[in-house]
Amino acid sequence: MEDEDNNDQMSITPIHLKWMREAMAMAEEALAHSEVPVGCVFVRKNSIIARARNRTNELRNASRHAELEAIDLILADKELTPEPTRYPLEDTVLYVTVEPCIMCACALRQLGIKEVFYGCENDKFGGCGSVLGVNASVKHPVHPSYQATAGYLRDEAIMILRRFYVTENTNAPVPKQKTSRVLKTEIPPRIQT
Ligand SMILES: [Zn+2]
Repeated sequence: MEDEDNNDQMSITPIHLKWMREAMAMAEEALAHSEVPVGCVFVRKNSIIARARNRTNELRNASRHAELEAIDLILADKELTPEPTRYPLEDTVLYVTVEPCIMCACALRQLGIKEVFYGCENDKFGGCGSVLGVNASVKHPVHPSYQATAGYLRDEAIMILRRFYVTENTNAPVPKQKTSRVLKTEIPPRIQT
């Protein structure tokens, strides 16, 4: 198996890595467009039904995260969503390079996502355990919880974020001077939650 030599990912399943690589390709596309590099794919019946990336700068809309972009595509597609149902994502799995934020984690729960796999933690806004466990530990009287598993291409997910943040973000309202910043390459260990 191609990933056998990666001792950091002993329990990582190759099929999930395959989909996560597709999500990472979307993160690369985001980076190429000067967006915070987060990408995702939604998989149903063993194939990708939607792929998306962060577009918050392009659309000047802080809610345009990769996950919500993809969800909009899925719900607007008559073949993927023939009719309104309570949980349109109940047979759909999300692969996203960064832990979904609280906003996206909540939307995913309300739409009944089957399961989530992600790369690295989102220390500031993470909604699958890092800041708040919107996926499961937050009790809800109606919407079922979903499992969210970290650690798929985690190092790559961290490094692509760093590559973005060491570069001048010309889309920021007040661009910061980052000329003194260097690209760190050491990856901190994951804190189990
Ligand atoms: Zn989000």
